[in-house]
Amino acid sequence: MKKPDAVCPQCKSSNDVYKVSEIYLSGLESIKSDRPLKNNVFDQIFGQPSQKLGERFVDQTTKRTLVSKFAPPSSSKQRVSRSIPPDFIVAVTFILGLFMLVQIYTQQPAFFLPALVIILIIGAIYLFTRKNIQARFKEKQQAEMNEKDQIEEAIGIWMKLYYCAADYTVFDQKHKIPVPLQEMNLYLASPETYLDQTRPAE
Ligand SMILES: [Zn+2]
Repeated sequence: MKKPDAVCPQCKSSNDVYKVSEIYLSGLESIKSDRPLKNNVFDQIFGQPSQKLGERFVDQTTKRTLVSKFAPPSSSKQRVSRSIPPDFIVAVTFILGLFMLVQIYTQQPAFFLPALVIILIIGAIYLFTRKNIQARFKEKQQAEMNEKDQIEEAIGIWMKLYYCAADYTVFDQKHKIPVPLQEMNLYLASPETYLDQTRPAE
């Protein structure tokens, strides 16, 4: 592995500097492997030398905890489905309603008229409130897009982030300011806001 030549803003050296993404990926590899890997960056940084295994070694529990600290930013809530446009839901419901009407008409004609009235009322209510429903849907969609953009941006910064194993800090080449590893996600969410808030008062 080629060592990055980024210089740590805290200790002014690149001796213990590694790319965060490389630590994370090699950590995942190390977790998956049932024997110590040769030249695994993660094991090199965090492992204890083991005489028996001949390589540096980290136990699985510690490994998992450590790897998660270097993980890239991800969505706060796991979204299973994208939001469905309200018009689509109403159209599907309408078609189902038509099928039901046909059934009722052929099997229980006495209920046809009340069923038709109910469907017409529901349809009318939707048409009257459609503008509001659409507006709310657009808002929700926009919020989802914004969150997606933010996460993509945060991942972009994460890809260029370095870790200094001597100071337990992360930093990037743009701001060159050491950030404690446990505050990495705060920093990634918005480096500017984070730095504004942590800057010592002058
Ligand atoms: Zn350092």
